[in-house]
Amino acid sequence: MKVFREIHELRSFLKAERLVNAAQGKLIQTGLVPTMGYLHEGHASLLRKAREENGLVVLSIFVNPIQFGPNEDLDKYPRDEKNDLQLAEREGVDAVFLPSVEEMYPNPTKTKVAVQQLTEHLCGASRPGHFDGVTTVVSKLLNIVQPDNAYFGQKDAQQAAVISQMVADLNFDVRIVPCPIVRENDGLALSSRNVYLSPEDRKAALVLSQSLLAVQSRVVNGGDITAGQAKEEIIQAISAEPRALIDYVEIVTFPGLLGIKPEQVLTDAEGEVLIALAVKFGGTRLIDNIILTKKGEAIHV
Ligand code: AMP
Repeated sequence: MKVFREIHELRSFLKAERLVNAAQGKLIQTGLVPTMGYLHEGHASLLRKAREENGLVVLSIFVNPIQFGPNEDLDKYPRDEKNDLQLAEREGVDAVFLPSVEEMYPNPTKTKVAVQQLTEHLCGASRPGHFDGVTTVVSKLLNIVQPDNAYFGQKDAQQAAVISQMVADLNFDVRIVPCPIVRENDGLALSSRNVYLSPEDRKAALVLSQSLLAVQSRVVNGGDITAGQAKEEIIQAISAEPRALIDYVEIVTFPGLLGIKPEQVLTDAEGEVLIALAVKFGGTRLIDNIILTKKGEAIHV
């Protein structure tokens, strides 16, 4: 496994790999898994999928400053390069791209890539500018690596929808591959930020997946639950947990992220329904979601 900190080195490596394989008559695909590091099993599942589908797997690890707001956790975002490299090696990654901030942004950024509408609500409303930072850095990474396939987790369902829209709108020659949410045995969605949680908050945070699953089982069992009722039930369940502070609970279409009227019965909604939430526990903001079909089956996009 090779580790690159400079763009030109990574590019030379990729070019050489592609040439060597082409000379042997092999057309290999390249898969990119963009991350901010502090890797866990959620990231590992993306790497495994990439390994299955590509001859060349590139993992990027970059805590992207322009996607953090001024009062967010950029400075204390967890980092563990040694452990990340071990996990990458174990998952059979070919190249790790670990650029510095100066390497990615040598000059103050004067160009940004911004997706309209899809970024205005859910996490976009509580984190102004966040998605512009994400789409800008992902555009840069796609241009640097030029992958055939790029892997994103449904854990960040809005991000996956925004990136798919960007790729379609700007004709990036890449297939976006969404991957299911990986959870702890007790239901908590894996996240690098879980490390911030106190034991009490960690326990309290189970209310997120539990409230989503409770709505799902209502739908599966044929309950004619409306979007308004589902939202209210989730808000009630989370509010009953004193350690939780709700940022938002929203029910929208997926991947269009269009609002669903409160009186809309979920099983009659057009297409798939995304129930997404963001909740703070002692200053740590966690997100979770579920995507339901008409029959109430949770689908993994
Ligand atoms: P991050 O390092 O948090 O920016 O995440 C990098 C990628 O891993 C994103 O595409 C995330 O959606 C994905 N990811 C993070 N946590 C999980 C999880 N629990 N299950 C699946 N994918 C995840």
